[in-house]
Amino acid sequence: MAIVTETQQQEKFFILFVGLCLYNQEASDASAAAQKRWNLSDFDIGKPLGRGKFGHVYLAREKRSNHIVALKVLFKTQLQQSQVEHQLRREVEIQSHLRNPNILRLYGYFYDQKRVYLILEYAARGELYKELQKCKYFSERRAATYVASLARALIYCHGKHVIHRDIKPENLLIGAQGELKIADFGWSVHTFNRRRTMCGTLDYLPPEMVESVEHDASVDIWSLGILCYEFLYGVPPFEAMEHSDTYRRIVQVDLKFPPKPIVSASAKDLISQMLVKESALRLPLHRLLEHPWIVQNADPSGVYRG
Ligand code: AMP
Repeated sequence: MAIVTETQQQEKFFILFVGLCLYNQEASDASAAAQKRWNLSDFDIGKPLGRGKFGHVYLAREKRSNHIVALKVLFKTQLQQSQVEHQLRREVEIQSHLRNPNILRLYGYFYDQKRVYLILEYAARGELYKELQKCKYFSERRAATYVASLARALIYCHGKHVIHRDIKPENLLIGAQGELKIADFGWSVHTFNRRRTMCGTLDYLPPEMVESVEHDASVDIWSLGILCYEFLYGVPPFEAMEHSDTYRRIVQVDLKFPPKPIVSASAKDLISQMLVKESALRLPLHRLLEHPWIVQNADPSGVYRG
């Protein structure tokens, strides 16, 4: 789930209050002048791309521009039942303002009586999670290229006072060129749990979040460290059969590197510098980009070419 920091919250709330209302036609007058009003007849609908808890995602083409998009269709009743309308408004507001090659664009939204439609950038190569399942684990070149591109996207987010807080394979899609796209904006917490682990999303939470103490942008450094580990070993580092064991291992930072698959000492050094309990001591993202493992392995184009 992407969030904004406290001070930004108030500002965002104001913007939301005056400019964004997904369900109330009258209240959206202010924003309507500023942005195009879309409706379903603007699109040719193509094949289904996937299914989430609140609805379906379809390939679609905007008729006038011929632009290919992914149209996410969410059912209002389901959103209301799960009490996530407010969260959706906030996430739409954040995602629509982010512009980065490694963050999935949200071009716009519209709604009718029963549904809310999100017009999203189409990620042609689908889910990273499936790729990882297929390969079991990634090569160091591939992992480093992905980690570097995500670090750059997170530096961009943090510069805008947005903390993602939910970096994990299930929330990443792959674009047509092979570039990673952060695609989750508050949903994954509520959608099907696609992981086969016992602990679900707990695996990626930093100690300060599992202990419910204050946290800041460095939660994303931790999650990126977990992701780097999972890319290289195929499983997250603190995985356990019981929730309580994962919890304990996270809090104690019980980090172990198994002998197989073989991973370089340099990669382990980077992970160890990211998975640090004291959040202020985690390797800052701009320093991550200068780490020898990243410099030696990541493709400078930011795209893994296979
Ligand atoms: P979600 O409701 O976001 O979990 O989406 C359900 C499924 O639809 C995902 O697991 C993807 O397989 C697919 N999907 C969602 N958004 C996109 C997109 N922008 N481009 C391509 N496939 C997508």
